[in-house]
Amino acid sequence: MSTTNDNKIPAGQHSPREDWMEYLYDETSEENRSRLSEHLKTCAECREKMAGWSQVGRSLDTWRLPQARGAGFWPQPLFKWGLAALLAAGFAFWAGRFSAPDWICRPFAPRFKKR
Ligand SMILES: [Zn+2]
Repeated sequence: MSTTNDNKIPAGQHSPREDWMEYLYDETSEENRSRLSEHLKTCAECREKMAGWSQVGRSLDTWRLPQARGAGFWPQPLFKWGLAALLAAGFAFWAGRFSAPDWICRPFAPRFKKR
């Protein structure tokens, strides 16, 4: 039966960063975990790196995106385009009413005016 000592990281050597990421996010095998834990006990350099990485991970966990502006019930573009369409329709109605020749208005004239 083999012991964890068989997989021990040689003195003066360090595991690659990928191994530490797996260790940090608890995605490594039990064997690797104990090997890396043993190494952390004796290697100040790797301990320091791990402390930095776990701090970055924690601060990313607390990071929240700011609330997007204009994302309420009426999305901003819809409101703008609706307002533009309303103004365009209003202008078209006004322009049509005052520029139409008499013969177009004649059929409706008796209802509004008595001659
Ligand atoms: Zn190390």
